[in-house]
Amino acid sequence: MRAQLFTAAGRPLAAAELPEPRPGPQQVLIAVRACAVCRTDLHVVDGELPDPKLPLVPGHEIIGSVVGKGESVDRFAIGDRVGVPWLGWTCGICEYCRKGHENLCDRARFTGYQIDGGYAELTVADQRYCFAIDPRYSDVEAAPLMCAGLIGYRTLRMAGDAPLIGIYGFGAAAHIVAQVARHQGRRLFAFTRPGDLGAQDFARSLGAEWAGGSDHLPPEPLDAALIFAPVGALVPAALAATKKGGIVVCGGIHMSDIPSFPYCILWEERILRSVANLSRRDAEEFLALAPVAGIRTETVTYPLGSANDALADLRNGALRGAAVLIP
Ligand SMILES: [Zn+2]
Ligand SMILES: [Zn+2]
Repeated sequence: MRAQLFTAAGRPLAAAELPEPRPGPQQVLIAVRACAVCRTDLHVVDGELPDPKLPLVPGHEIIGSVVGKGESVDRFAIGDRVGVPWLGWTCGICEYCRKGHENLCDRARFTGYQIDGGYAELTVADQRYCFAIDPRYSDVEAAPLMCAGLIGYRTLRMAGDAPLIGIYGFGAAAHIVAQVARHQGRRLFAFTRPGDLGAQDFARSLGAEWAGGSDHLPPEPLDAALIFAPVGALVPAALAATKKGGIVVCGGIHMSDIPSFPYCILWEERILRSVANLSRRDAEEFLALAPVAGIRTETVTYPLGSANDALADLRNGALRGAAVLIP
């Protein structure tokens, strides 16, 4: 099968011909129809995340068809359409798994990081971490739901019932979260790279009342801020834009260092927190909500062989919505 292979940090992905993967007892063999490109994939290829599997097939926003299965698979049949997210396996017995925080599992394994992912014609995935996809979505439309959607949804959930949300970084996750927030009746402000008028227009088209550069304060203070751009300097910016008792949630897996800041922007009971990974409960909730809420995804498609171009466009902020690879 054809795949795009990560071999060393800082090197472009290489086209490779790999043997067809064989499903283990709990795994399905999936013909990949679409795989979205996540910023985490960039962190992997840049060597910003420790100890990836090597060589590795990246990609953890997979939509495909079940074409084979192991002897214990009972949740899916041949021909079923499934989505595969970042969370690939958890132990079920560590203190975090037992407390219902499987996203923090001590021994969790992640798709496209410790497990080969979807930048390929075929992949295998544990059936217990695969999800049915609503027929209202095409393969390409559904792919960004699997991480931008799921982790974006978890990030929004951490903002509690905040009525006025600010989103920093208006990429793939933000464009989905904005629609969920509007569906929930929340108000929305969007912060982009200074001068990125295209992204500000895009944010307004998705319901942002106000959109401006991240170097600006919003017209009124936020109840909560969600940071999706991997830029540590946005943390003090967001704290300064958030009202007393407000919450700042960092939605990404990696960020540049956070500059020091005066205590007064955290004081008055502002909360600063991160989000790590996702739980299966997040996936079930969000994948049920998305079609009902009318969540649409904006995508730019690339052939599998152009994965490096998709990563470069994501890095350069040249995308409106999400990049999706088609094998
Ligand atoms: Zn992701
Ligand atoms: Zn565990």
